[in-house]
Amino acid sequence: MATDPRSPAVAVGLQGSRCSGCAVTAYPADDACPRCGGPADSAVLQGTGTLWTWTVQRYAPKSPPYRMPPDGFEPFALGYVELAEGLRVAAVLDVDDLDGIRIGMPLTVTAGDGVPRARPTTPGEEGS
Ligand SMILES: [Zn+2]
Repeated sequence: MATDPRSPAVAVGLQGSRCSGCAVTAYPADDACPRCGGPADSAVLQGTGTLWTWTVQRYAPKSPPYRMPPDGFEPFALGYVELAEGLRVAAVLDVDDLDGIRIGMPLTVTAGDGVPRARPTTPGEEGS
């Protein structure tokens, strides 16, 4: 049993920032715009998007920041999710089956207490 279906409590949405000049969105939040260097305001990103690319981590990453689970290391998927806001966020993919991952699949990213995590978007969440 590698995964716990009861994911830890996380806030919905991602705390990012949006440039007041050119409207570029950034995550994590940054005081300065990554494109024009102008001032950016904090913005909550919806966190919904699609899988842009991914890979399977088959050996334990460097720790920290990686924290070894109590049951020991298990391979997991790591991907980039292209958010509705147009930026890509690296996240651990919380999926039941690594073989079921497809580029373009709808995902919802949530900020945890470490690397953001993405899980398949449930139909009720799409387009909301
Ligand atoms: Zn800007």
